[in-house]
Amino acid sequence: MKPLALYIHVPFCARKCAYCDFASWPGREGEWRRYFDALVTEIRLWSANTDFGLLKERFRVRSAFVGGGTPTLVPAEWIAEALELCRKIAPFDADAEITVEGNPGTLTPEKLRTYRQAGVNRLSLGAQSFDDDLLYTLGRIHTADQTVQAVEMARDAGFSNINLDLMYGLPEQSMDQWLDTLERAVDLGVPHISAYSLILEPGTPLAERVARGELTVPDDEAVIAMQRTASELLSKSDFGRYEISNYARPKSESRHNLTYWYRGDYLGLGCAAHSMLDETRFSNPDSLDEYLAGRRMTDVQRLKRRDAIEETVMLNTRATKGIDLAAWERRFGRPFAPEKSAALERLAGAGYIEMKDDWLRLTGRGLEVHNAVVLELLEIQEAMER
Ligand code: SF4
Repeated sequence: MKPLALYIHVPFCARKCAYCDFASWPGREGEWRRYFDALVTEIRLWSANTDFGLLKERFRVRSAFVGGGTPTLVPAEWIAEALELCRKIAPFDADAEITVEGNPGTLTPEKLRTYRQAGVNRLSLGAQSFDDDLLYTLGRIHTADQTVQAVEMARDAGFSNINLDLMYGLPEQSMDQWLDTLERAVDLGVPHISAYSLILEPGTPLAERVARGELTVPDDEAVIAMQRTASELLSKSDFGRYEISNYARPKSESRHNLTYWYRGDYLGLGCAAHSMLDETRFSNPDSLDEYLAGRRMTDVQRLKRRDAIEETVMLNTRATKGIDLAAWERRFGRPFAPEKSAALERLAGAGYIEMKDDWLRLTGRGLEVHNAVVLELLEIQEAMER
């Protein structure tokens, strides 16, 4: 039985954040139940689908992630119902990691209790910052105090496995503000922190304000300094960095995330959800209306060898463990690089990569310029494929 990661997308939010271009919509409350009915239908169809063989005979669910959007906005019973039905797609491991993503300000003790009863054992909270002015600029619906209350509420409900999402490189954000946010997150005693650099997506209100000169974002050097600060501060607090943006206390790494970076099989349910089963990628439409109209499994694409090589390099190198060179050779039928590779030696000599015990990993310095290192590693692959 192969391990499977399930993803359920809940595309509703209380308000659209100023930087967000995800498939999520504020309002549309009138469509919430219709959406969950469509989701239930999709789950039922997957329980009997044989496009990849009957999934329940081939896979076991190692992790499930209910993301969004703001899943904690909708009635918790609906999430519980969807998760329960998912057990018909494939059996869940007894210790499956089951995460619900949510926003401070939308949690209640009752909702948390319902999640627990549904087997949810991990919460991922979009804290983003502990500075109320920055939260306001981002258009978040909550304050820093509400994040603290959400963590306390979650603990009272029996959750110990809690992630906080944080963002840096925010408009007008100083290093002191970032340090304060990191320290407050650590002081809350959560075992997992994701620290993402803000990406200004074209067309979002925040990007437009920056383009008009109303707000200034920190320059590249300042952003790298913030990333370094996160890595240093968190490692002093017993957090291991296991991916470019993810830090965990021992044994608290997210299984679900690791599935993506190590290219395991995953099935996405709901609008805009992506899947990869047996090296075949497909996705549901991004548009809520198209999803509600019953359109599914668009862009079905069987990965070619070159795509698989490229993805493996791009994704494995995001994880700090890096590329398992023995597994690479088994998968692609050839070594990662020639025995004496001048390109690898140059990257290692410059301190961007390390090779040890049959693993190739990017160093902290290499992760700062991840894209550039990946391009060089892909050039090696091009030559090896010729
Ligand atoms: S809560 Fe998340 S998904 Fe919703 S608008 Fe904000 S950033 Fe986007």
